[in-house]
Amino acid sequence: MLPKLIINKKKFKHNLDHILNVAHKQGLTIMVVTKVFSADQNLVDIINLSSADYIADSRIENLKSMKTDKEKVLLRIPSISEAQDVITYSDISLNSELKTIEYLNNVAIENNIIHKVILMLDLGDLREGIFYIDELLKTVKEVIKLSNIVLAGIGTNLTCYGGVIPSATIYDKLLNIKEEIVNNFGISLQIISGGNSSSLDMLLNRKLPKGINNLRIGEAIVLGRETAYGDYLDNMYNDVFTLEAEIVELKLKPSIPIGEIGMNAFGKTPKFDDLGEILRGIISIGKQDVDHNEIIPFDTIKILGSSSDHIILNMNDTINHYEIGDTVLFKLSYSSLLSLNTSKYISKHYV
Ligand SMILES: *Cc1c(COP(=O)(O)O)cnc(C)c1O
Repeated sequence: MLPKLIINKKKFKHNLDHILNVAHKQGLTIMVVTKVFSADQNLVDIINLSSADYIADSRIENLKSMKTDKEKVLLRIPSISEAQDVITYSDISLNSELKTIEYLNNVAIENNIIHKVILMLDLGDLREGIFYIDELLKTVKEVIKLSNIVLAGIGTNLTCYGGVIPSATIYDKLLNIKEEIVNNFGISLQIISGGNSSSLDMLLNRKLPKGINNLRIGEAIVLGRETAYGDYLDNMYNDVFTLEAEIVELKLKPSIPIGEIGMNAFGKTPKFDDLGEILRGIISIGKQDVDHNEIIPFDTIKILGSSSDHIILNMNDTINHYEIGDTVLFKLSYSSLLSLNTSKYISKHYV
């Protein structure tokens, strides 16, 4: 069935093992993040057989459905309304609200379970995390009193909303805060979680300060790139996932529409370049499945646009020869991978 995602398990395993190796050599543990491929069990099985220290997802539904013996980490700040599932289906959750942690404690008591939390600190990226040190110390003080919650560590998330790039200065701040907690409360903190794929440049160049002992990595493993600068990484595949779509129409037609131009199907007024008559292809995949700006053709094809169920291509200058029924291959970005993995119209094929 087309369109389909082609998933190369060997390449996934290669990327996974490479990151785990580099991290373990420097004494860091890794939470392998499965959200970008909706915790596909075929890939979770590969993680299960690897030396991954933890498995992590932002959705409790994904943690619930996956089969694994690894410690499970919930990445998105838990909702009070899902507290029962958080306690049942995750071993560790990332948190920033005392009220929620107290709630988790109550549910953990009812279930006779010990749940671990990592307190998230906002070091400037302005997504999740406690921003002010006063609030942090107050939260720690209360959390360590809770009978069924263990404060497993602290963490931060960077380059997600504000685009803030990890640096030695930012990490020194995190490590100073760790010292302050340890000294104030006489406790030890097992996990100091420094971030996501945007910390890989520092990891690979051995620039992460000692004391940062954990990273949460998703994108780098599936796309072979770090995310602070968007650079592709050496010795990593960037085509673990490819998209294959079928050509359903292929005709020579003009490059500008004929007639008065009003709105398109999405209420926008489109603009066109006049390239004369060109060979135009239509593939059977559309906005419902993926944003056409987020897929990259392997062949010299230009993507002209899309509607709900069609993507329109300029196939005038292709290297390969195509006919109706042939397929076109695309490389993917993070957001196209996310949307294709959650579209029910896309089938999956493993090689
Ligand atoms: C998604 C996510 C990650 C993983 O990010 P990648 O860029 O895919 O490596 C790490 N931490 C949190 C809190 C996340 O939500």
